[in-house]
Formats: sequence, structure tokens, C-alpha cells
Amino acid sequence: AYNFNPGPAALPLEVLQQAQEQFVEYNGIGMSLMEISHRSKEYEAINAQTQELLLELLGLKSGYKVLFMGGGASTQFATIPLNFLKPGKVGSYIITGSFSEKAYEEGKVVGEAVIAASNKEGKWRSLPKAEDIQIDPNSAYVHMTTNNTIEGSQFSYIPETGDIPLIGDMTSGILSRPLDASKYAMIYAGAQKNLGPAGVTVAVIRDDLLAEEPKHLPVMLRYSTHAKNSSLYNTPPVHSIYMVNLMLNWVKNNGGVAEMEKRNVEKSKLVYDVIDASGGFYNGNIDPDSRSIMNITFRLPSEELEKKFVKESEQNNFVGLAGHRSVGGIRASAYNPVPYEACKALAEFMVDFQKRNG
Ligand code: PLP
Repeated sequence: AYNFNPGPAALPLEVLQQAQEQFVEYNGIGMSLMEISHRSKEYEAINAQTQELLLELLGLKSGYKVLFMGGGASTQFATIPLNFLKPGKVGSYIITGSFSEKAYEEGKVVGEAVIAASNKEGKWRSLPKAEDIQIDPNSAYVHMTTNNTIEGSQFSYIPETGDIPLIGDMTSGILSRPLDASKYAMIYAGAQKNLGPAGVTVAVIRDDLLAEEPKHLPVMLRYSTHAKNSSLYNTPPVHSIYMVNLMLNWVKNNGGVAEMEKRNVEKSKLVYDVIDASGGFYNGNIDPDSRSIMNITFRLPSEELEKKFVKESEQNNFVGLAGHRSVGGIRASAYNPVPYEACKALAEFMVDFQKRNG
């Protein structure tokens, strides 16, 4: 199948095969990884190596901790203000899609949250320019979503926030292109797109944000708890983290993040070129300067044609092309593991579909 699922998303065949080989018995230990103790030396090695690899691929040499947490990226929407929003301070949010909006709503549940910029009125078509972002000097942090999964946009720059910690939800964009990760005080991502199967969320947090223990919070909700215990405070999802390890090795062995970007640009261009050459039959949801190389979103002239497009795509082995239920239309999620051939096949299918229906 040509898997364009938005998440959980495609995994590289090699990674699945590696996991399959080790599934019943891991590395000659007489049992599977799902049966071993998270305190075993085998898991401790996986835990440490996965953390190191992620920092290496993000280009972060020191000063950050990698945490493996539960609850998906959605739980981070709440744990961020719980840990960092102090009385008298505000959480600032750059709102560029429904996930950043959800993060903002959770901020308001916990304390005071303000909007630093929003492109909602423009139907998310074009991301705010750097000069349009207004940061309250009293902010405890600034939160942004680097790639907007549902809308199909990605930031081409990192907002300047001075001494105010910048926090990036990178669930659908992590490791898709090189970026200066050191500009972020915290990066987080649900694993289920570029990092592996669902079941674990990674949070990469700068040491100074971990120094203080927020004693007013339950122990499990404090980032400092997980940092101090190398993500072994409670039982981690061992198998999911092992899969993240395989995925990170796959990225590294395939040329690293720079090569991922090269491939992702080429892949997404195949589809964007068809949209742009279609004379308006396919209509991109996002202005060209804000387009995502991960999630490609577009509309057809009618909902009827969109339904037909999805139905025929399924008959041709394409999976996951229906847009998010909240917005409709078409969305092709071409994360790191999606091969060039899948995007080429999609581009060809689109040209053919237009010929028959345009
Ligand atoms: N943030 C972004 C950018 C996402 O794409 C998603 C899920 O697709 C989430 C947050 C929510 O992630 P989870 O389902 O892990 O809670």
C-alpha cells in the first residue's frame, strides 16, 4: 500500500523487518523486549542510546535532557503550563492550527494564556510573519507548532523570543529537516509520525527548565521527576521506545536530517507541482511560502469529487488521503518513511484523475 496516513503513520520496511527479527527473542536473551524488566541492562542500554541518538540528530550536544513520557503530545499541552506557568506570568501561544489552539486552550485551563499571533482569520493559509508575533514580556514561555498537521503548513523560520523560553510542538515535523534546535528551550513530539509507532511522547528539555522541582504538582506530572530518573521513574513503554531507537538509527543510516529534508522536498514537490499545474482543479489549502513538506493539503472543485477521489485512490492502493474530519478535502501525509515512489504514484494518479474528471 502507498501509506499516506497522518498518524500513526508509515514505517520504513527495513525498520519493521528489524523489529520482526527481534520480536520473539531480543538479541539472544531468551525472551522478547516486551517481557524484560525496564531495569534490565538491555533496556537501560536502549534507553540511554535512544536519548543520545535523538540529541545527536537534533544537533544538541549538551544542556538538554530527553524524556520519554506517556499521554501523547496532547498531555504535553497541559503539562507545559502546569510545570512552567507561574502566578503573575502568562503563557504565550502562536496559533497556527487546531493543535496549537488546543495547546492554548489547555494553557487557559491552568493559568493565564495569551495569543502572540494567530492566522485563524485567514483560514490558516499563510503563517504569521516574524514581525507580526507580539510577545508579552511577562511570558513564562512562548509555544508554537512548527508543522501544522491538519492544515498543512510549516514555519520557515524560528521566532526570536529573547530570554523567554521557546517551546515547539514538533509532533509532525521532527527530524524532517535540519533546524537550530538550540533556539528551543523545549521540543516535544508524539512518536507516531517521524519517530515510530504510537505509545511514547518525547520531550527534549533544556536543563535550566528542569532545575526547579514544581512541588505543587503530583510527582508524575513534573518534568523534573522524569529527568532525574532518566525516564525510568515508572514503567516506560519499552517496545515503543525500542521502535523509536530503530527509527532514529534508520534516519542516521540514511544520511541524517539533511538527507531527510532533501527527500521530503523532492517528494512533496511532486504533488505540489501537480496542484500548481492543474489550472485550479486542485486547490492548495496553504499559500506556497507556508506549505508543509510533511502534510500536503488540497481541495477539489466539489465535495462529491473529493469523495470520488478518495474512493478511487483506495481502489488504487493509496491509504489515508481523506483530509482531517474537521476540515475535509484531501491530505497526503508524506513523513520521512514515505518513499519517493509513493509520492510519484500519487502525482500520476492525480493527473489521471483530473483528465477523467476535470
Ligand atoms: N500536535 C500535533 C502537531 C499533532 O499533529 C498531533 C497529532 O496528530 C498532536 C499534537 C496530538 O498528538 P497525540 O495524539 O499524541 O496526543
